[in-house]
Amino acid sequence: MKYFDTHCHLDFDQFDNDREEVVKRAKEQGVEYILNVGTNIESNKKVIEIAKNYDFIYSSIGIHPLDVDKVKIEDLKEIEKLVKSEKVIAIGEVGLDFYYSKDKMEKQKEFFIGQIEIAGKYNLPLIIHQRESKNQLIEIIENIKMPEKVVFHCFGGDLDLARYCLGKNFYISFTGILTFKNAKNVREVAKFYPIEKIMVETDAPFLAPEPFRGKRSEPFMVKYIVDQLAKLKEKDINEITDLIFKNSIKFFLKNDL
Ligand SMILES: [Zn+2]
Repeated sequence: MKYFDTHCHLDFDQFDNDREEVVKRAKEQGVEYILNVGTNIESNKKVIEIAKNYDFIYSSIGIHPLDVDKVKIEDLKEIEKLVKSEKVIAIGEVGLDFYYSKDKMEKQKEFFIGQIEIAGKYNLPLIIHQRESKNQLIEIIENIKMPEKVVFHCFGGDLDLARYCLGKNFYISFTGILTFKNAKNVREVAKFYPIEKIMVETDAPFLAPEPFRGKRSEPFMVKYIVDQLAKLKEKDINEITDLIFKNSIKFFLKNDL
């Protein structure tokens, strides 16, 4: 069976001691593609470097909303430069996150808008991070031209937000949260959302699925998220695995699959 981990952070220092083994383990267990996602300027550069070492690892470039205090708005020029590097196939993760505080709201919005524009300009898919920011996010989306392909990563919203995303023709992607005991709302969204518009991701090193909950997450664990999705959809695991893999290829790599 083939898997595509559409969102992880192999550049993080949690992988400094065994990055190579982590990648090897993923490959051995059927992970055919990995999208490694940058979060700030340094992280983006590292992500681009890692992609040079493995033919099946690609890069997404962006400033994470919780990293905006490390940058100035002029740094978006640097992002535009990095976007032109080899194997950069998306912009992200970008968005709004007011979980810890709303202090940086204006700066987060400014960066979000700037990076939506970059995605549009280079015709790249956009990976959105959203936490405690639904209304502000929708307000921006309603007032700007969005790129053709958009995914809400690590979907943790409610059915309302899911309906909104579907109305906009967005994709959503699920992490290990889908397997957590207390994640009833997220499972409801998974049952509701059309399978053609779903992808999966580990968000490694975070959010390891059951039975690894609490441990460091790794790309090979993406299988457990797909299996859970098949269970929720009451469909054959092989069939769902194949569909999700194809969705991800179509979204990130080839339009004509
Ligand atoms: Zn992430």
